[in-house]
Amino acid sequence: MDNPSALSASAGPLDPEHPASSYALEPDVATPLIARIVTSQTSGTHTSELPFTGAPLVTFPTSSDDDVELAFSRARAAQPSWAATALRERTAVLRRFADLVLERQTEVLDIVQMETGKSRTSAFDEVAYCSVAARHFSVRAGRYLADRREPGMFPVLTSVTVDRRPVGVVGVVSPWNYPLTLSVSELLPALVAGNAAVLRPDPQTTLTALWAVELLAEAGLPDGVVQVVAGGGEIGAAVVDRADHIAFTGSTPTGRVVGRRAGERLIGATLELGGKNPLYVADDVDPVLAASGVARACFANTGQLCVSIERLYVHEDVLDEFLEVFVPLVRDLRLGTGLDYGYDIGSLTSQAQLDRVQGHVEDAVARGARVLAGGVHRTDVGPYSYAPTVLSDVPDDAVCTTEETFGPVVAITVVGSDDEAVERMNATQFGLNASVWTGDTRRGRRIAARIDAGTVGVNDGFTSAWGSVGAPQGGHKSSGLGRRHGREAIEAMTESRSIVVQHGVMRGLSLDTLYDTGAARATGLLTGALRLMNRLRLP
Ligand code: NAD
Repeated sequence: MDNPSALSASAGPLDPEHPASSYALEPDVATPLIARIVTSQTSGTHTSELPFTGAPLVTFPTSSDDDVELAFSRARAAQPSWAATALRERTAVLRRFADLVLERQTEVLDIVQMETGKSRTSAFDEVAYCSVAARHFSVRAGRYLADRREPGMFPVLTSVTVDRRPVGVVGVVSPWNYPLTLSVSELLPALVAGNAAVLRPDPQTTLTALWAVELLAEAGLPDGVVQVVAGGGEIGAAVVDRADHIAFTGSTPTGRVVGRRAGERLIGATLELGGKNPLYVADDVDPVLAASGVARACFANTGQLCVSIERLYVHEDVLDEFLEVFVPLVRDLRLGTGLDYGYDIGSLTSQAQLDRVQGHVEDAVARGARVLAGGVHRTDVGPYSYAPTVLSDVPDDAVCTTEETFGPVVAITVVGSDDEAVERMNATQFGLNASVWTGDTRRGRRIAARIDAGTVGVNDGFTSAWGSVGAPQGGHKSSGLGRRHGREAIEAMTESRSIVVQHGVMRGLSLDTLYDTGAARATGLLTGALRLMNRLRLP
């Protein structure tokens, strides 16, 4: 641990370099967090697992359908006065949150690592994101929410103002892979726009989300504005059934279910779903400068990252040079467990994740793929540790060619030109993130403009695209619907209202009075006016 916090960890046998086998969430940390869950006496319980060892981590009560109803009624009761709070006070909460999350990072780094098994560096990425996003929305919310003037139907006579109102209560269903980031990324725009929220974090990572909500309260968010319900998919569905807008992050199949329900209820939905993200190494790349960035793009968070790279297209002219640097670098990545920065790659989060990753690699190898690095379940490190894996010669019908692996596995394919790279990068049902590496950033932009994905990084795997929170982030094709971040996030969680004022009516200047003079005369005059407006190219 960086410094003593209320959480404790002690040594164990699996990873001799980071010998930690008994991690514990201390009651004085866990109990007040758990008390925030909306539960009644009849609710069940859930025990999460410590991925570093496979042992039970924490048991907490889960919410029932009635509890979800209660959470929404509390949120609805708190929302009007929060919406009526001056914007500068709402943004001040975010500003304080941006500082507090940095100050209190040790606590949450420990909780995130214990719930997910990720490395401390990946956990820190979550902390940094929270600060970046909270600062952004605190600074830009005024601009995003400002009233907008639009040209009226008749110049001078008509004026139009568009304002934005919060939708009411936003439902947030967040997954386990980035439990802090993916809860906060939806809560911040929802709250700053004057909404209340009901959050259902994944059962494996509920405490991380509770910690974020506790910190928002410390930053000054009034009681009741964010409610947390706990439980699995059925509780997520109960949130979708009641929300005024649903922000869902998860897989494409579940996203389709959520989207159908949102459609039936005619509520807005932001669906952030799966990817099979490609990266192209062009022929003008310096392999030494590119290799570590490419490795991070593939293996950060043990590959359990919606925007991480699973398909690597390398130009034939730099293939040998690139592999000479890249493959040893991947082999040398340090796997580990433990609450410190002493290793690069953490554990997978669950047995289900391990099964999926192993299944994809075994299937590819059975179909003729070659393993250039990894391909090994590292039981010596932890029960769910899996070595970062580089495959080549993966056939088109392999499962890991078409389906998201969501683990530390990348398949290398050789290409002969930019055109071939673009064609292959786009040959997928997904379109979440993509990356182009080149010595010429103008060429990078040109290639990026041909890629069908919500974000495309040039000489960046995902970090800058994800951290540039003023720009929309989301998926094309089966990777999602709607966008998080920036103006788009605020617009998704607010309703526009157009207020149109006719200035001449009380002076007898209106369409009605014009038509009262006779339809033939009125339409003749209107035709002339419209011709003039066309000529003047009025908007
Ligand atoms: P999943 O779809 O199985 O589950 C996601 C969450 O949805 C879970 O917490 C689950 O409890 C809940 N859920 C299940 N059924 C539901 C329903 N009917 N209504 C509401 N909620 C329901 O996904 P997962 O395997 O837990 O997460 C990994 C997936 O998430 C990957 O596909 C990954 O790409 C995706 N993801 C996407 C992004 C993004 O921003 N695009 C970010 C992170 C993860």
